[in-house]
Amino acid sequence: MKIALAGIGKIALDQHVPALSDSPDWELAATLSRHGTVPGVEAHTDLGTLLTTRPDIGVISLCLPPVPRFALAMQALQAGRHVMLEKPPGATLAECHALQAAADAAGLTLYATWHSRHADMVPAAKAWLADKRLKRMTVTWKEDVRRWHPGQAWIWEPGGMGVFDPGINALSIVTEILPHDIHVTEAVLDVPENCQTPIAAQVGFYHPHGAEMTAVFDWRHEGTQTWDITAETDGGTLLLSDGGAVLSIDGVASGDADALAGEYPRLYARMAALVREGQGDCDLRPMTLVTDALALGRRRTVAPFHDSPAPAP
Ligand code: NAP
Repeated sequence: MKIALAGIGKIALDQHVPALSDSPDWELAATLSRHGTVPGVEAHTDLGTLLTTRPDIGVISLCLPPVPRFALAMQALQAGRHVMLEKPPGATLAECHALQAAADAAGLTLYATWHSRHADMVPAAKAWLADKRLKRMTVTWKEDVRRWHPGQAWIWEPGGMGVFDPGINALSIVTEILPHDIHVTEAVLDVPENCQTPIAAQVGFYHPHGAEMTAVFDWRHEGTQTWDITAETDGGTLLLSDGGAVLSIDGVASGDADALAGEYPRLYARMAALVREGQGDCDLRPMTLVTDALALGRRRTVAPFHDSPAPAP
């Protein structure tokens, strides 16, 4: 199937292009981006032109930041194309609902992807938790924003979600592996005085069986990068670490910390299956947790953030 990729930036070049070129399902037939291109692939800067001149391209995969994504997604759906969305699926829940309604009305596939759900050990964690009674879950997602998002101003603007941009990956795993739905009850958001979005957050959740559930997200972390989910249960303790690549049950580990490479190939295999089956997949639970944390969160103003450390006086 022919696919066009929109928003040729960091994640498109790091993950989408290699996954597409290795896929038996897809041919990357065109790109849409104001500046970015992929060598050897037809490049467009205007979606209307792409849609009109390439009726043979049935799928548009959007990997630009969340705020500008809705308009392009809706335009593609209205032109009868299936749409695949990078995470988060939009800047607001209302946008996502509007896209879902448009896709359903037209009989098109809308796939809101959550790449972290496709980390190697997430299915095993889900299976292990299925028959356990959860007592406590702790999410610790601490990374260095300068290392992973250099020069990306949009993450600090309204709709950019700040530390919830990676944090939503953790929440996509949590909502996948837990057998019960949770919701946010409280949050504290640390917002740099020169930014619109949090650089760190602590979140508390309601769990229907009374399990204690908390998450800590911090983008100021320069040491060992930490992407851990710990679950204490009546049947032992689970640690899902390295973003879902390694699973430890009562201290016995399996998986490979460097094995996140399967995430994007699995996303594109799933998109191919959805299109073939005439189905959609738009689970908005991770997005709901983030928008609720942003709605309920108590803001604390913290030191300004500068992409490069400030020069010594
Ligand atoms: P990015 O490199 O900053 O942006 C991707 C491209 O989108 C840019 O190169 C730009 O291309 C286009 N773009 C940026 N702002 C735009 C705007 N206001 N209007 C129209 N186009 C705009 O971001 P990214 O890191 O690839 O992230 C994109 C999405 O992927 C985000 O939702 C992010 O959460 C998700 N994601 C990122 C990572 C990661 O490690 N970076 C991992 C997984 C998922 P042109 O200037 O050429 O138009």
